[in-house]
Amino acid sequence: MIYLDHAATTPVPPAVADAVRETLVNQYGNPSSQYPLGREARDLAAHCRETVAHALGCEAAQLAFTSCGTESDNWAIRLAAYQNRHVGRHIVTTAVEHSAVLESCRQLEQEGWAVTYLKPDRDGNITAMRVANALRSDTALVSVMLVNNETGCVFPIRAIADALREQGSKALLHTDAVQGFLKVPCCASTLGADLISISGHKIGAPKGVGALYLGERVRHPRPLLAGGGQEDGRRSGTEATAQLAGFAKAVELRTAQLDEALARMAALRDYALERLLAIDGVVRVGNGGAPHILSVSLVGYPSANIVQELGAQGICISAGSACHRGKASHVYEAMSLDKKVKAGVLRISLGPETTRDEIDALAAALRVHKETRFPML
Ligand code: PLP
Repeated sequence: MIYLDHAATTPVPPAVADAVRETLVNQYGNPSSQYPLGREARDLAAHCRETVAHALGCEAAQLAFTSCGTESDNWAIRLAAYQNRHVGRHIVTTAVEHSAVLESCRQLEQEGWAVTYLKPDRDGNITAMRVANALRSDTALVSVMLVNNETGCVFPIRAIADALREQGSKALLHTDAVQGFLKVPCCASTLGADLISISGHKIGAPKGVGALYLGERVRHPRPLLAGGGQEDGRRSGTEATAQLAGFAKAVELRTAQLDEALARMAALRDYALERLLAIDGVVRVGNGGAPHILSVSLVGYPSANIVQELGAQGICISAGSACHRGKASHVYEAMSLDKKVKAGVLRISLGPETTRDEIDALAAALRVHKETRFPML
């Protein structure tokens, strides 16, 4: 099988699976228990927190584990809106956020909040100036993702943080870094965001674990899950220690020789672009800079058909975001793409193990599809 859908999820390396299994079988204690098995589990969770926090460039105490990126996004938006409700009831975000952010904002709209959804330009980009111009005196929260999951566009979070400060805005800044963590520079102190969402399964950890960075301006974060007071009272629920062990091991594996791996991935993305653009009728969509995501369109050829046909041949790519299950993507809608370009959008996303041969196989299969199928009218 040729797996070119690493932005949807990633395979779990054997060393990560071993770490998960070891925890499930031998270190299964509840971190809250007061006997050695519990203490062991507590130590394990602490070690995992240190490891992930270190990779994110923050203190362990600033990182709360969650069940996924979606929970991190939901929690970040809810807690920021709650903390800053005295500032006002206005949120600035973009029209190309993941639905975990967009739906959270829509829920708040139903509760009387006003939300400004900034559209990107035709290349998929959003400037800090656009965000700054949308700020109001009652803006309580700005939420802008670090890397768009469909185009690979990298948004200027540091410049947005600076703009907020320069304007004296009281808004908290959240960034959904689910696609950015360990793919582009993503250091909490450098980014300058107050809240950063990450997810394990995009970097080789099992599904079902994520984290939220809570910066120093976040005070007494209101829990999304109330209960036993785990995660320092911030997120209740018995710690998913096996998932945490997998998350930490995946981070360890990815951070070893990260720069080389990312440079290799970026070179492969450029190679893929060159190979795919050589097919008559293929155009690039957006100009994303992330090393692992490439978006193109076989103009006029419905992408759902291509994805199915290639899938049957053992080549896994995506027609935009896997989270949309065939629905037209709001991202390409917001970029105001031409109808036929939009119809044919394909997202290819690479992992550390992806090879040139796999890209060549994709290009060959796409060429055959083009030659043997009819475009939409
Ligand atoms: N944010 C972005 C940008 C994503 O790409 C995804 C998943 O595709 C999520 C959030 C949700 O993460 P999870 O699948 O861990 O809930």
